[in-house]
Amino acid sequence: MNIYEQIGLKKVINACGKMTPLGISVVNDLIAESMKQALQDFVEIDTLIRHTGKIIAKHTDTEDGCPTMGAAAGVAISVAATISKTNLHVVEQLPFFEGTANEIIIQKGHTIHFGASIKQMIALGGGHVVEAGYANRVYREHIEQSITPNTSALLYVKSHHSVQKGMLPLEVMIDIAKIHNIPLIVDAAAEEDLKKYIKLGADMVVYSGGKALSGPTSGFICGKKEWMEACRMQYKGIGRAMKVSKEAMIGLIIALESYESQSVDPDIQKEKMIKLCNVLETIPGITTGIEQDEAGRPIYRARIQIDATKTGIAANELSEALKKSNPAIYLRDYNAASGVLHVDPRPLFESQEDIVVDGIIRIIGGG
Ligand SMILES: *Cc1c(COP(=O)(O)O)cnc(C)c1O
Repeated sequence: MNIYEQIGLKKVINACGKMTPLGISVVNDLIAESMKQALQDFVEIDTLIRHTGKIIAKHTDTEDGCPTMGAAAGVAISVAATISKTNLHVVEQLPFFEGTANEIIIQKGHTIHFGASIKQMIALGGGHVVEAGYANRVYREHIEQSITPNTSALLYVKSHHSVQKGMLPLEVMIDIAKIHNIPLIVDAAAEEDLKKYIKLGADMVVYSGGKALSGPTSGFICGKKEWMEACRMQYKGIGRAMKVSKEAMIGLIIALESYESQSVDPDIQKEKMIKLCNVLETIPGITTGIEQDEAGRPIYRARIQIDATKTGIAANELSEALKKSNPAIYLRDYNAASGVLHVDPRPLFESQEDIVVDGIIRIIGGG
């Protein structure tokens, strides 16, 4: 029995992804053991924050880094940094300070909801959101005409949640930022490449520690020393409500240090999904295929297309029934309305794809 079953909760089979509602990631033994040791002793937190920043810098090819409680906190803190710089008075007034530039320009198709609204995270940092362009179309002029002396930063959201068509590419946003001498923040929460966006010229980039890195609940911002100084200062202000723990910083350090060597071979995961598809294919009304991640990451998911007239159950009903079963099985159901469910191989433990197959057969078979 796992720890959650011991307190009376259901076991969860996660075939969905790194999801906050399912506890995001599981960490490896090395990370867990290091976090245990971190929890059982004292440390000078300021020094640990700075040291973690140096490790972040090393792995992102930047000058400095600032650990955070997650990427959402990273957005709030980096936004606040562009508004307050290192002025303690402003830091202590945020999010309600009005005496400095505080408008954050974001493309309309980037105003996403990742489980909470990015606009709200910007507001937490004291930013006034200025949406530029339209949900499906943004021109360079839309951004440039939104810039005023009150503009504090541009924010770019690199995510599968963002509208993928009709938005300005990051390169153009960076060009605009440079011409107008405005900092540009990238929210790259779930991205796997820790160096790309800084290399392209972003001033600050925000990552989640629990997503691609498979670390504990944590995150970080990376960028120039001056910006990181301003980010760290927020722990005397709004950052206190998103305090990053000593064990999270240690877990994040170990996750960063072992990131490249830990990455699982996508071919092995693909192989597993092909096997799963071959079994499900035999069920009347189900057709399958392998699909690469919509944002182009090397993730290969099983696509399960359900013809409800033959299976007697629609995709969304099947997904809900699997969640209610014991163990609870979570498939990726963003496309359930069009009859499609996906199995994400990354969060599955050894042989759990068999439990997924059994669960589907049990429900469709009427058992
Ligand atoms: C997940 C996500 C976040 C929030 O990350 P946390 O680490 O859970 O705080 C922010 N932005 C985007 C684009 C995300 O996908």
